[in-house]
Amino acid sequence: MPAAYEVYALSPGGRTVDWSTRLYLHPAGDTMTSAYFLWLLRGPAGPILVDTGFTHRLGRAKGVAVERLRTREALLDAAGVDPREVTTVLLTHLHWDHFDLEGFLPNAVFWVQRGELEFWTSGDGATDPWIRRFLSDCFDRDLETIRSDGRLRILDGPAVPAAGVRLEPVGGHSPGMQVVVVDSSRGPFVIANDALTTYRNLREWAPPAIHLNSIAECLRAMARIKELCDGDEQRLSPGHDGEVWTKFPEVAPGVYRLA
Ligand SMILES: [Zn+2]
Repeated sequence: MPAAYEVYALSPGGRTVDWSTRLYLHPAGDTMTSAYFLWLLRGPAGPILVDTGFTHRLGRAKGVAVERLRTREALLDAAGVDPREVTTVLLTHLHWDHFDLEGFLPNAVFWVQRGELEFWTSGDGATDPWIRRFLSDCFDRDLETIRSDGRLRILDGPAVPAAGVRLEPVGGHSPGMQVVVVDSSRGPFVIANDALTTYRNLREWAPPAIHLNSIAECLRAMARIKELCDGDEQRLSPGHDGEVWTKFPEVAPGVYRLA
């Protein structure tokens, strides 16, 4: 019997955006609620976070109306987790809304794919100013901090950070994008994150509008995600879909029980 984890989405809130920013080549003029998330896995290995969320300072710098957003500290508090007790953080990719530390999670080891790290440190993402917009303005400093502390775990393919939790690189949205598959009481639960920005990407078979690597790779990632969750939306969390707020119960402010 595999270890069963409880899976939670922690959401600071969201904003209204055009569907064309989510579905590639979708005509403009039709809006949706784009939610922000980080995820919490609760199980035998202790609390595990998937991604880090971001500070209000950074959100403001990126043009987000942060006054209406909950802080990540408040979300962890609502979920009963002290950030200092988190020792494992699985980074799906390194875009600013998923990786921003600024001193947060001081005792955690961060798991990231080598392809993702190298893209942002020695590939196009290291120099091209348009691509760099996807990073936090503290990226270099945050990375240096966890690297020099020995808290960076670099992966070369699928990995099992804890019994019942698997990482699988899929690429597409970002070069080293990885999805998280968690053994839950519902069966394998897939945190697809931005490999599948919204449920509609899968329903309508439309790649995410943001695809730094390759549209074909995005579509392969979507096919793999569908296979991993058996096409069951109750075992699937996309990266920015406000539909998560209504599909799953809110058990504390901003804390959604997914499985
Ligand atoms: Zn994102």
